[in-house]
Amino acid sequence: MKYIGAHVSAAGGVENAPDNAHKLGATAFAVFTKNQRQWTAKPLTDESIAAFKANCKKYNYQPNQILPHDSYLINLGHPEKEPLQKSRNAFLDELQRCDQLGLDRLNFHPGSHLKKTTEEKCLATIAESINWALDKSKGVIAVIENTAGQGTNLGFSFYHLKSIIDKVKDKSRVGVCIDTCHAFSAGYDFKTKAGFEKVFKEFDDVVGFEYLKGMHLNDSKKALGSRVDRHESLGAGTIGLELFECIMNDSRFDEIPMVLETPNSDIWAEEIQLLKNMQR
Ligand SMILES: [Zn+2]
Ligand SMILES: [Zn+2]
Repeated sequence: MKYIGAHVSAAGGVENAPDNAHKLGATAFAVFTKNQRQWTAKPLTDESIAAFKANCKKYNYQPNQILPHDSYLINLGHPEKEPLQKSRNAFLDELQRCDQLGLDRLNFHPGSHLKKTTEEKCLATIAESINWALDKSKGVIAVIENTAGQGTNLGFSFYHLKSIIDKVKDKSRVGVCIDTCHAFSAGYDFKTKAGFEKVFKEFDDVVGFEYLKGMHLNDSKKALGSRVDRHESLGAGTIGLELFECIMNDSRFDEIPMVLETPNSDIWAEEIQLLKNMQR
């Protein structure tokens, strides 16, 4: 079964997200459980938690159809002690919010070295941060998203993802999310069926499909290998539709949330239908 949706709004409370997803005809959704541009948020209220759970039940959204995303401010690979601890605390809070909502995974960007340390050390710091946060929480899988490699962001290579996973102690609570725009911008050429097979064979060899806990389905405004992260609507960008047809007809992408983060939310319902219709 393929679960397809979009990163929906949580305006007015996280409990509104399932309704927003349902209106799109989505069988999956992504959501921020707090304002993604702020460090702290008020704790979730019992009412909000109960309403979120009730709405998920109403529309039949299971945890493996929901991919919460953490704040953009968090850098789990920060080379300096104080900001690193601030990021770790915020990440732990995000994991706990997911657990309170009955969710089983949290998607995040691995981190940036800020030109103040080596890639190797930064990747080790990210893994340490994950270990630190998993140790203090329960239930929720830390889902590392691949990046476009913009600026000093790490996670643009499958080997970065592997390097982090290798150092995480509890392998049952770590996973990855592949963002198609980010991968293409990072240089993974999967525009064609042959390219798709090759890239995901490499993914399986290096990381392993057992770690795949979600997908971000985005076309890209920028060229292959540009290292620039600019999402585009499906079929309107430099990737094109063949990749998405391949994904929709490959059982290795079953039973995980696959969500659009494309720029025009007015056509999300159409894009979701387009993806559903690609299934043969
Ligand atoms: Zn992301
Ligand atoms: Zn993404």
